[in-house]
Amino acid sequence: MSFKISSAWRPSLGSPVHTDGRGLDIKELRLTWDGRREEAVFNNVNKDRDESPLAKKFTDTLWENRSNTGVNQVIQPWRWVNVKNEPKYTNDHPVNQLSKNLGKHKIETDHLNHLHVGVWNK
Ligand SMILES: [Zn+2]
Repeated sequence: MSFKISSAWRPSLGSPVHTDGRGLDIKELRLTWDGRREEAVFNNVNKDRDESPLAKKFTDTLWENRSNTGVNQVIQPWRWVNVKNEPKYTNDHPVNQLSKNLGKHKIETDHLNHLHVGVWNK
């Protein structure tokens, strides 16, 4: 399995999740398995790509295992999870459930070209 990572810890730029070293941005994921190759390219800037089966499985696994891993953010071009009860999001996005990236909110448009995963600050 290989990953193309675009960002991890950033000393002074962007979200506190990254300045704290709790965030990872992934562009691509490639997997060779039983002689088959699968890939997930986390890019839907042109809104013309569907989420690949591997992208879906990887995203679902990150979220489903959050109680063991400490993951509290998964944001990618097709889906994301709203973990706070913020009124600006809750009409479109139920709290703590992966739901469709509508490309409507800044958090959605900022994540059309990568998958962001973040962990709790404990
Ligand atoms: Zn990020």
